Amino acid sequence: MSDYQPRLDDIRFTLNHVAGLEDVSKLNGYQHADPATVATILEEAGRFFAEVIAPLNRIGDLQGSVLTDDGNVRTPDGFKDAYAKYVESGWASAHMPQDWGGGGLPYMVGVVIQELFKTANMAFALAPTLTHGAVEALQRHGSDRLKDDYIEKLVSGEWTGTMNLTEPEAGSDVGALRTKAIKQDDGSYRLFGTKIFITWGDQDLTENILHLVLARTPDAPPGTKGISMFLVPKFILDETGAPGERNDLKVVSLEHKLGIHASPTCVISFGDNGEGAVGFLVGDEQHGMRNMFTMMNAARVGVGMEGVAIGERAYQHAVQYARDRVQGRQIGADARESVSIIEHPDVRRMLLTMRAYVEAMRSLLYVTAGEGDHMMHAESEERRRLASERLALLTPIVKAWCTDIGVELASIGVQVHGGMGYIEETGAAQYLRDSRIAPIYEGTNGIQAVDLVLRKLPLENGAVVTALISEMSATVDSMGEHEELATFRDELAHAIEGLAETSTWLGARLAEGDIASALAGASPYLRQFGTVLGGWLMANAAVEALRAPAGFDPEFLEQKVNTAAFYGEQILPIANGLIAAVRGGSGRLESATF
Ligand SMILES: Cc1cc2nc3c(=O)[nH]c(=O)nc-3n(C[C@H](O)[C@H](O)[C@H](O)COP(=O)(O)OP(=O)(O)OC[C@H]3O[C@@H](n4cnc5c(N)ncnc54)[C@H](O)[C@@H]3O)c2cc1C
Repeated sequence: MSDYQPRLDDIRFTLNHVAGLEDVSKLNGYQHADPATVATILEEAGRFFAEVIAPLNRIGDLQGSVLTDDGNVRTPDGFKDAYAKYVESGWASAHMPQDWGGGGLPYMVGVVIQELFKTANMAFALAPTLTHGAVEALQRHGSDRLKDDYIEKLVSGEWTGTMNLTEPEAGSDVGALRTKAIKQDDGSYRLFGTKIFITWGDQDLTENILHLVLARTPDAPPGTKGISMFLVPKFILDETGAPGERNDLKVVSLEHKLGIHASPTCVISFGDNGEGAVGFLVGDEQHGMRNMFTMMNAARVGVGMEGVAIGERAYQHAVQYARDRVQGRQIGADARESVSIIEHPDVRRMLLTMRAYVEAMRSLLYVTAGEGDHMMHAESEERRRLASERLALLTPIVKAWCTDIGVELASIGVQVHGGMGYIEETGAAQYLRDSRIAPIYEGTNGIQAVDLVLRKLPLENGAVVTALISEMSATVDSMGEHEELATFRDELAHAIEGLAETSTWLGARLAEGDIASALAGASPYLRQFGTVLGGWLMANAAVEALRAPAGFDPEFLEQKVNTAAFYGEQILPIANGLIAAVRGGSGRLESATF
């Protein structure tokens, strides 16, 4: 039996009673995804990822992907076979567009399938994460020819996609990139340059790999305005559409990393032979940055999911260990009898903290995905617009809050194991090592905080944030009838007031042009926002659980209320503790000498 057991009851409850799957399934094109059908699909998915993918997590960590002498990447034992099963069984394409051979499930359900994959094996799951982004970018911005040639194979999972932005001198500042793209008479381009840190930049799982590469045409203006996006296949297609001649690109080396060892992180050189790598323009010239954002926004939600996934896996591991490990005696009990550490209040606090955060983050993840579904499929233009704004606001919070918390939960997981947590054999340390990348890539969490304050808070003159805060306040009212939630209700009301206060304060700094003060408070503001959103959604979950919906075990519902109340009473109060840091201004930071 796998050591990973998907918590399908919590997933099903969150989908149906927090994130509104039923409403999503009524949207045009999603009628086949009613909650009962989705539950059956997820049972199957859970079995697949637990049995086929999860057992490879440790092997992946120990062996890692390696670069062979012939310049190709070899993945760890068992990955190739498991990936083939993933494609054959249809999990790769379940939520991909039906027009291109996918199953057409809602994005919200696709997010759950990816979450299951990531919880089973984060490093492995990164390959399809970027493939999904590539499908979206091609669908929205690719020419008909590119769509016809490439999308179906990406959707099925037969080929994978990658995202190539980063260069040695262009990390957070993507606009500094130097890779060149030179137009040819036949309309194609030849690319020259070096990209670093390319996730799954090469592998032996699929026949072809499609790199989406940001580069600059010779006469392009400097900065992000001059960037264009190109599709650069590893193997150029022959006249039958099959992978033919090898393109002029090669993996120069693989990075040696703290974690996600199974995920090959490649330095790729384009145009080393002097011919240039053949590439095809995606969208218009100099629109590359905007088009890459299609990929990046989806990928940011996908990375936020890694916080949920690693937190869940670390939690399950820690609970198992805490049950088995006998150490110490219970205060007040027969002094001769040792107990499992799960009996100690401090260990119970660690475990419940992990569970509460995971469930809060899961709620935020699914709610955000639901906005993506409404943005694409809602009937009224107004609803689509509102969903698009809400999604824009929530994306940096999902990315940064969930991944910061994911690292903290993986660290608590190590702590539950005591000294054995620091020893690699138990596996707890792998989760901590794997989790640490998520706050860094896909735009560091610092960059997400800047995005939240400079671009998302001012959306519609602050109305997008204000509308969300009003919606949260309505939850406070709905908690009124439940005595058990009285403390939680007071804490939530207080935390929402705190969030309104810092939002107004930051808005005022932006209005008066004191950007330095606004940015100095950006990261604590994002943390505060995430913590309050978690409280709001856990409050909704508690109210729903107290209504005792059919189809859930009473014990599960009781635990849901207890976990939510723990979040509300003991985690949520942290949010207002951040107000001083948000409003602290930039003075202390500027005065510091380093
Ligand atoms: C394992 C791994 C996989 C990756 N996968 C990919 C991939 O598939 N494709 C790809 O293109 N890239 C990938 N990356 C690159 C990744 O996205 C970058 O590392 C990341 O964007 C940060 O860039 P940087 O490393 O240059 O750090 P820097 O930009 O040098 O940042 C260093 C620090 O300064 C802060 N900082 C920088 N600028 C600002 C600013 N304006 N405001 C506030 N703070 C700032 C950052 O938050 C960070 O804390 C990967 C990286 C790793 C390690």
